[in-house]
Amino acid sequence: MPKTIKRVLITGGAGFLGSHLCDRYFEEGYDVICMDNLSTGAAENIEHLFGKDRFTFVKHDVTQYIHVSGEVDLVLHFASPASPIDYLEMPIQTLKVGSLGTHKALGLAMEKDARFLLASTSEVYGDPKTHPQSETYWGNVNPIGDRGVYDEAKRFGEAMTMAYHRYHGVETRIARIFNTYGPRMRLRDGRALPTFLRQALNGVDLTVYGDGSQTRSFCYVDDLIEGIYRLSQSEYIQPVNLGNPDEISIKEFAEEIIEFTDSDSGITFEELPKDDPQVRQPDITRAKELLDWQPTYSRRDGLEATIGYFRQELGLGQDN
Ligand code: UDP
Repeated sequence: MPKTIKRVLITGGAGFLGSHLCDRYFEEGYDVICMDNLSTGAAENIEHLFGKDRFTFVKHDVTQYIHVSGEVDLVLHFASPASPIDYLEMPIQTLKVGSLGTHKALGLAMEKDARFLLASTSEVYGDPKTHPQSETYWGNVNPIGDRGVYDEAKRFGEAMTMAYHRYHGVETRIARIFNTYGPRMRLRDGRALPTFLRQALNGVDLTVYGDGSQTRSFCYVDDLIEGIYRLSQSEYIQPVNLGNPDEISIKEFAEEIIEFTDSDSGITFEELPKDDPQVRQPDITRAKELLDWQPTYSRRDGLEATIGYFRQELGLGQDN
C-alpha cells in the first residue's frame, strides 16, 4: 500500500517557532511528533493540538538518547533556549542542546532514513564585519563571551549536520534564522520586541540598550514558517538565510512600537550588553532564488497581529 501520511519529529515543538511548525505540518497533513522538555517551551503553545489523532507530544530532553517508534520522514531540530537572557541563565544546557542534542537528532534521522533540518541562526555571523550578511560569510564570533554559548553551539550544530551529510549521507538542510517575532513569543524572554511591547502596553518606559543605534531586521513568524516549510521540501544542502531584510535601529524600533501601540511611554537608555551585534540584516538572495521565498508581512502588519496577542496575554482589553 502506498504510504500517504508523512511523519515529522519537531524538537523544541512547544516553543515559539516549534509550535507554529507543529501547526503548519499538521495542516499539511503530516503526522506530528512534538518533542520538548518544556524548559523554555510551554504546553499552552500546543494545547489546541492535544487529542488530535495525528499529533503526539513527548516530554523529553533531546540531549539524551531519542527513541521514536515507527517511521519518521523528517526531523526539524528546533530545541534550544533562544534569547540572550535564557542562555545566560542556562549556558550549559544551551551548549548541550546545540551539540549533544543535534547529535542525537541527527542520529535519529540517520536511523530512520529521514530528512533533517537544523534551526541555525544569524548568530553564527556574530558581530558581523560584512553587511548585509550572506551565507558565504564565516562570521565574527567571540567564543568565550556570554553569547558564545549559543553562537558556538549553533556553529557546532552546523558542522555536525554537514558531517552527517558528508560522512553518513543524511539528507540535511540548514536554516539560518534571523530575528523573528509573533504570537506565542514569551512576554518575558528578555528580547527587545516582547520587552518593548510589554513596556509600551503597560505604559512604562522602554529600555533601549546602548544608544540604540544597533540594528536588527525583524521577520513575522508566518513568513519564517513558510520559508522553513519550503526549505524542508527543497533539495538544497547549503545553509539558507531566512529573515526579513527590512532593517531598523533599535531606537527607531522602540519609537515605532510606542506609536503602533498608541502608548504614552518614553524611552530610557541602559547599558549595552557585551558582544551585542552592531548590525544585522539578512541577504536573502539565496532563499529568493532557490525557494522563491521572501517575506510578505510589513512590520506594521506583523506587529499589529502580535500586539493583539500581547494584549490578551497581559489581560488588557483590545482598546486600552
Ligand atoms: N535590547 C534593548 N532593550 C531590551 C532588550 C534588547 O535595547 O530590553 C537590544 C539588544 O541589546 C539588541 C537588540 O535590542 O541590540 C535586539 O536584542 P534581542 O535580545 O531581541 O535579540 P538579539 O538580536 O540581540 O539576539
